[in-house]
Amino acid sequence: GALALAGCGSSERDGAAESPSDAASGFDAGAAIGVALPQKTSENWVLAEQLFNDGLKDAGFKPIVQFANGGVTEQQNQIDAMVEQGAKVIVVGAIDGSQLGTQLKAAKDAGVKVIAYDRLVKNTDAVDLYVAFDNFRVGELQGQALLDGLAARKGAGPYNIELIAGSSDDANSTPFFEGALSILQPKIDDGTLTIVSGQTSFEQAATQGWKGENAQKRMDTILSGFYAGDTKLDGILSPNDTLARAALTAVQQAGKDVPVITGQDSEVESVKSIVAGVQYSTIYKDTRELVAKTIDQIKLAQQGQDFEVNDTTSYDNGVKVVPAYLLEPKIVTQENAAEVYANDPTLGPLTK
Ligand code: BGC
Repeated sequence: GALALAGCGSSERDGAAESPSDAASGFDAGAAIGVALPQKTSENWVLAEQLFNDGLKDAGFKPIVQFANGGVTEQQNQIDAMVEQGAKVIVVGAIDGSQLGTQLKAAKDAGVKVIAYDRLVKNTDAVDLYVAFDNFRVGELQGQALLDGLAARKGAGPYNIELIAGSSDDANSTPFFEGALSILQPKIDDGTLTIVSGQTSFEQAATQGWKGENAQKRMDTILSGFYAGDTKLDGILSPNDTLARAALTAVQQAGKDVPVITGQDSEVESVKSIVAGVQYSTIYKDTRELVAKTIDQIKLAQQGQDFEVNDTTSYDNGVKVVPAYLLEPKIVTQENAAEVYANDPTLGPLTK
């Protein structure tokens, strides 16, 4: 869509018209910038830590980049501390997108700009911008890949499948699941796809903390309860690579054939598996691109300019539609892996 501009001058908050002096009010070029990352539940977060530290330093800022491995309370405390340390922008990859209202309000009251990074923060107006790959689109691509993979690898339908969803505290998990279901539901309704366990709702499919062990345990239970004897499991919708590999372990231990399975994040082990013809698909969301885009936005704020926005309708956080800058995720299968990863220094060589 066309580019729009989101107000990030203080005038916007006061509800007054933008004045030239407001537009010009940025902050010190060497300012502290906070980056509150969640837990290390996938490789993209680990890479983001390094890229934010390097990129912010290169741009002249003073980065404060922290993981909250201990959980929500730790992340809340870290954000409070970033405000106290005078951060001018706080970038938030939330563990629980609905538990940061108090901290972000304090940030906003102190004049700090808040950017939700990769994961939306919910139920607060104290978020100025959302920078992410389009999560609903990720889900659509996963749903379509599952259908394509079934047709390519499992002959004519009908097919038996199971659904896995992400952690329910992560705001991304719902759009991933709903995006996929928007593609799969018509095929469930017409009998092409059967969810043999009957576990069709997000709540039933969710994986607490995005933990592989939780997805594996659930899959073990489903396999022993519903797939005894010759019952085939043709496909699994998995929201990311970590959970896909965990589900494949359960299937393998149950002595079943490899199902068509989706993923996300282009993790090294999964890319190898795709190239070897085991995992069917993943999603490429280039973390370098996402971090670079986020740092560009911080530079705009530093210069007192408005954030760059390309979506003003998709991401309602319960209080407001958060102006967003969305990047396009890419689907990856064995067929296009070499092409998609051609310029990725880590993944490119794995496809050779
Ligand atoms: C990210 C995914 C990731 C998941 C678990 C989500 O918020 O968008 O890329 O797989 O968190 O870390």
